[in-house]
Amino acid sequence: MDASSRGGLLHRLADLLERERSVLATLESMDTGKPFLHAFFVDLDGSIKTLRYYAGWTDKIHGKTMPVDENFVCFTKHEPVGVCGAIIPWNFPLLMFTWKIAPALACGNTLVIKPAEQTPLTALHVGALIKEAGFPPGVVNILPGFGPTAGAAIASHMNIDKVAFTGSTEVGQLIKAAAAKSNLKRVTLELGGKNPCIVFADSDLQSAVEETQKGSFFNQGQACTAASRVYVEEPVYDEFVRLSVERAKNIAIGDPMEPRTSHGPQIDQHQFDKILELVASGKKEGATLECGGCAVEDRGLFIHPTIFSDVKDHMRIAKEELIFSRRGQRSRLFLFSRVNCYNALHAQAPFGGFKMSGNGREL
Ligand code: ADP
Repeated sequence: MDASSRGGLLHRLADLLERERSVLATLESMDTGKPFLHAFFVDLDGSIKTLRYYAGWTDKIHGKTMPVDENFVCFTKHEPVGVCGAIIPWNFPLLMFTWKIAPALACGNTLVIKPAEQTPLTALHVGALIKEAGFPPGVVNILPGFGPTAGAAIASHMNIDKVAFTGSTEVGQLIKAAAAKSNLKRVTLELGGKNPCIVFADSDLQSAVEETQKGSFFNQGQACTAASRVYVEEPVYDEFVRLSVERAKNIAIGDPMEPRTSHGPQIDQHQFDKILELVASGKKEGATLECGGCAVEDRGLFIHPTIFSDVKDHMRIAKEELIFSRRGQRSRLFLFSRVNCYNALHAQAPFGGFKMSGNGREL
């Protein structure tokens, strides 16, 4: 298909997501428990922008010419990879879906994509929109299913040329091993994170509290970019903790469809149990639980926003995903890297982690 026609199809799909914005935000909220308004403004906005951004790229994928020696004309040409496998998580189901399909389709690939077993609804609805937009049959194949069966089949398939995975570091290791043992398919991994945030004594404390809590509690804390560790300079430590607890206690927990709600339930029993188990480990290892740390009574999988102080780096709550902790220790370690910016996702910018948080880049 001509590059400009591919761009046209991606724009058409973006139009259809705009038309169905309320329906998709409702499905996403019902499926994940995230507040409807967050789904409507954050997830849908990012998904539509991702499709439009990559629609614009289709006819701007250029090779190079090189002045090689002797009498040759030498150039490079970018070719599609072929069939791309994609395996995505449950925290931003539609956004991750568009992050995977848009760049792959822009470059002329086809896809087999597996939504997380907890959250297949928006992917399936967009499947109908992909048909309506006029993509040829077989270009996007949506395969709902469980990880060890459907997901593993993608990672080890001989006719899939690349696998892009977003999820846990443990499963990322399985994916890479399966790719190596099958056909050496290319692998990109976007894995877990435990991101530090640094608050210096001369900062505006109220806004530092706002920003760290937006970074950490957004999406019920279920984001690989969550600011789940905060290092606070000694002189303002106590005041920072006091203001943080005050704010955390006022977070509106409740029905995700209610406009005033900013905090919904955790995704499933497994994550709920994992969080409460980590809270117990934090208490046992000697951190001070400042607020939260327990389920909302009689409310299923809701957990109160949780803050620990007196956290040491060796404690599990300082190392494993999902809990928000504070520690009074001067830190200069991160001064020269990009810091204190969370959940800032843009279709125009690459995204990804270092070391065991992944290889390759999204977008
Ligand atoms: P999370 O902690 O986000 O639930 P997972 O890595 O378990 O992380 O899940 C992310 C995605 O990986 C989901 O779509 C899940 O079905 C899939 N998955 C889980 N196990 C495997 C596996 N063994 N092989 C391939 N995919 C898997």
